[in-house]
Amino acid sequence: MRGTDLLVNAVASSMEEHVRFGGVIPEIASRAHLDAFVPTLDSALKEAGVTLDEIDAIAVTSGPGLSGALMVGVSAAKALALATGKPLYGINHLVAHVGVGILDGGKLPENLGALLVSGGHTEILQVNSLTSDVRLLGATIDDAAGEAYDKVARLLGLGYPGGPVIERIAKEGDPKAIRFPRGLTLPKFIGTEEEPGKHRHDFSFSGLKTAVARCVEQYQKRGEEVPVADIAASFQEAVVDVITSKAVRACQEHGLTNLLLGGGVAANSRLRELLAVRCASAGIALRVPPRNLCTDNGAMVAALGAQLVADQVLPTGLGFSTDSGQPVSLISLAN
Ligand code: ATP
Ligand code: FE
Repeated sequence: MRGTDLLVNAVASSMEEHVRFGGVIPEIASRAHLDAFVPTLDSALKEAGVTLDEIDAIAVTSGPGLSGALMVGVSAAKALALATGKPLYGINHLVAHVGVGILDGGKLPENLGALLVSGGHTEILQVNSLTSDVRLLGATIDDAAGEAYDKVARLLGLGYPGGPVIERIAKEGDPKAIRFPRGLTLPKFIGTEEEPGKHRHDFSFSGLKTAVARCVEQYQKRGEEVPVADIAASFQEAVVDVITSKAVRACQEHGLTNLLLGGGVAANSRLRELLAVRCASAGIALRVPPRNLCTDNGAMVAALGAQLVADQVLPTGLGFSTDSGQPVSLISLAN
């Protein structure tokens, strides 16, 4: 990053290995981080045309995430900071997922909400300040949206990662073929604006996953061919319907007239489409990152680091461990 300009976005991926095992194996992910650190740093500096000396600050994901991979990243960043004398910022990965919007759309507006839909999280946030005040309005009480995509893809025999493959196959199916349950949307969970239900802004996707499993079983029991494309399309419609309607409701109730979208599932075109339609009719200005900045990447971490520097937040220093320290405490629970 130079100011808010992204000079290079170098991403090292161990996805091929994870595909072989049908999911992320923590040990493999940690080793891949170790192998990739120096080559990725070298190639990023080269592509950006800068030397380590010219860098003002270093930002690293401190959590949440897989502890082995986090420890490799944080240790490497600390070593780099120590060797170069540059200030080090530990970054909350989740805030970075939604904060990536500053890369494309510039300065953030006021009255801002964020919808985080990733492999491990599904949350609605109120972003008073990206670097000091992010509040949780609602979250999943079981599976995350991306996790549901991955589990349903496995159920349908479609492989890993589930999001992109379900999105592709869903295009050939009928989203109205099967009416799958919309988690936590019954009146008893939603309540009214005066008397909100306990899970008004929360999500649940594990019932949906079970419903898909039962549906597949029924076809198999009858000896019929499983209509994979219709199931994929109907599953996706259920996920996207709930996420978009709950996000819009939360924004309206909290006076949030702007919404940032972020996280791996934000790459999904049906989600982007329906959210755009529902935000437009609710008068909410939506900011959607380019698809390649939705799934995990270093640029979003660098962008939040640059914002911390710009906001004159003191560096985290070397004394923090993973999943702790200043950046993780950025998310303060509203209730
Ligand atoms: P977290 O950020 O919560 O710690 P993570 O870093 O593992 O989790 P991300 O990289 O943000 O997750 O996103 C990966 C998830 O996004 C996977 O579950 C994947 O299936 C999902 N995903 C990726 N592309 C798409 C897509 N086009 N449609 C739906 N889901 C997608
Ligand atoms: Fe992520």
